[in-house]
Amino acid sequence: MSQSLINPYIGSGRWWRGNTHTHTLASDGANAPQDVIRFYAEAGYHFLAITDHNLTLPLSEYDPCGLTLIEGEELTTPRTHVVGLGLDRTLPRGESTQNQIDLVREAGGLAIIAHPHWMGFTPDDLVPLEGHLAIELTNQVCFFLNGKGDSVAWWDHLLTQGRRCWGVSVDDCHDIARDGARGWVMVDAPTCNWSSLRAALLRGSFYASTGPQFQTISANDRRISFTTSPCVEVRIVGRGGAVIHRLTSETEQAYTVHFEAPDAEPYVRAEIEDAQGRRAWSQPFWKAA
Ligand SMILES: [Zn+2]
Ligand SMILES: [Zn+2]
Repeated sequence: MSQSLINPYIGSGRWWRGNTHTHTLASDGANAPQDVIRFYAEAGYHFLAITDHNLTLPLSEYDPCGLTLIEGEELTTPRTHVVGLGLDRTLPRGESTQNQIDLVREAGGLAIIAHPHWMGFTPDDLVPLEGHLAIELTNQVCFFLNGKGDSVAWWDHLLTQGRRCWGVSVDDCHDIARDGARGWVMVDAPTCNWSSLRAALLRGSFYASTGPQFQTISANDRRISFTTSPCVEVRIVGRGGAVIHRLTSETEQAYTVHFEAPDAEPYVRAEIEDAQGRRAWSQPFWKAA
């Protein structure tokens, strides 16, 4: 009997845009925290995590400018960087990636493996790791630093090995004028407070984007269905990152897609791309056990 898909999306009808990786003058960023907060509010974001290196900056003294602010930290050593979201204190920087993930989780936070490609991790280095929410699929400052901002292939390797983790796009903003509002997540959650966002992130009710949007997305039985903002390409991706279905158009159009997951694929996920080459990535849809 063919297996149905697990639908991570809540279907709240609301989408909240946020950046989960941001630096300020409190570590090696170029901008004061208040200026960073104001920038993201004016760019149309709904939530923002401030994640300075080895410092959880208390945010209660700042004007949130309408944003939901999330306190966090990037646990940083020369060999590994892990972002912790939803922290109430500065954590020790840790020793290994797994140790950093464990420290974040023990403190009640969500752990995201930062920029694995830029870090020089092989895809296999990530396979044994446990307890992280996600890895960074794109990291804007790493594109600027040396072009190693794209870790999507690392994600497909993990997924193909049966490792269930989600994917985020981030600015890793060190300078709002250079890095700001280039990569984000859109969270499908009923409200935009931390407890609601946290539950949605854990469930996988979000997607990553550097431009285009999934306006609706869900799975029912073996079929995934979604609608998009104007795009020139839709790709359904399966095992190993292989494209198993592709739709293209000469000019941008809004797509409505229904796709039946083949039996052979352990997971399927959707990618969309606009005419400027900007992309969005759904979370993987796993086969139910
Ligand atoms: Zn980093
Ligand atoms: Zn960073």
